[in-house]
Amino acid sequence: MQHRLSNRISGIEKSATYDIFDMVRNLRTQGASILDLGGGEPDFSTPPHITEAAVAALSEGFTHYTPSRGIPELLEALSEKLAKDNGIHAEAVSDIIVTPSAKHALYICFLSVLDPGDEILVPTPSWVSYGAMAQLAGARPVPVPLAADQGFRLSRDRLERQVSGATKAIVVNTPNNPTGHVLDEDEARDIAEFAAAHDLFVISDEIYEKIRYGGARHLSPASLPSCADRTLTVNGFSKGYAMTGWRLGYVAGPAGVIGDVLKAQQHTVGCAGSFVQRGALAALTGPQEPVQDMADEYAARRKLVVDGLNALPGVSCSAPGGAFYAFADIRGTGFDDSAEFATWLLTTAGVAVTPGTAFGPGGEGHVRLSFATSRDVIEQALDRVGAALAARS
Ligand code: PMP
Ligand code: GLU
Repeated sequence: MQHRLSNRISGIEKSATYDIFDMVRNLRTQGASILDLGGGEPDFSTPPHITEAAVAALSEGFTHYTPSRGIPELLEALSEKLAKDNGIHAEAVSDIIVTPSAKHALYICFLSVLDPGDEILVPTPSWVSYGAMAQLAGARPVPVPLAADQGFRLSRDRLERQVSGATKAIVVNTPNNPTGHVLDEDEARDIAEFAAAHDLFVISDEIYEKIRYGGARHLSPASLPSCADRTLTVNGFSKGYAMTGWRLGYVAGPAGVIGDVLKAQQHTVGCAGSFVQRGALAALTGPQEPVQDMADEYAARRKLVVDGLNALPGVSCSAPGGAFYAFADIRGTGFDDSAEFATWLLTTAGVAVTPGTAFGPGGEGHVRLSFATSRDVIEQALDRVGAALAARS
């Protein structure tokens, strides 16, 4: 058979982050010593009280389908969390859907909001999957270039330059992967005014909410009155609670929109895992100290990695306000091409990083180093990068 696949799937690239996961695994299988600063996943185990709640659910036979929206007690806990942490009013019965991963929440939002021919504004650099998800929905991702020397902030001007009659939505990510930028008040106001002026949906990805530094405040666009009825807020448990393998997220928004997004959930996955939702309930209602402890450890690693990078010849890196990535400018090393730099580093020094271009054209000249790994690995990796750069000069 001639396998002629859909234009939709042929038109997207594989995920750069998953490619790096696979590459690291393969090289290690072949015996190579690889220090992995590629993948963005906490090295911590899920706090035990969360795991115990899921195990108890399994043991008591809580192993069936749940309502598509999620179990009522988790929806209630999320409604309270959104009010308390985010200033978002979301009714448990109508305004929230629990999804198997934030990724799936984003996907069903994109599918629900975008038609073929529509455009969605995607800041660049930004996370690897927004553009592909837009394309899977038949829509066109339109890059909004951000500037490194302006701290990768969005502005009304930058947005106005890319908007057209076909623009339907804008995606925002705070704290940001890969830049670490945390949305500030002026920026949020700009986005809200812009979205209202052009009647756009705002899809706000807040998966790194719990990981912030130096007192940076988390601001949810949906908490702004002018944005509340046009914003879909996506969040999840992967990063803050170290629950990547559990695959649990959620989306909150106006009842009229969420009721329709639910159709995409019902017809694709049905519901999130039953016992996984019990774990998430324990995460939200149990002690929050483990979350703070992990965030404190990321803060120590952030200093280590940022100081270490700035001590390297030709490399500069500003301290991220949130998330667990350092987005380093490598243009002074003699490499202009970030993919070439990442390949060179992996093959000569055994250090895996993600090239900035994985995050769109706006990431060129940079590489992303994840510090969701131990201080020991970070120190060794910095030594290896330093030695490789020195040997080259
Ligand atoms: N958004 C961003 C910016 C991310 O980095 C990730 C990481 N995978 C996700 C969403 C998806 O998170 P989840 O594990 O819940 O699918
Ligand atoms: N979000 C993580 C990253 O950026 C995990 C991989 C992914 O989902 O893309 O590395």
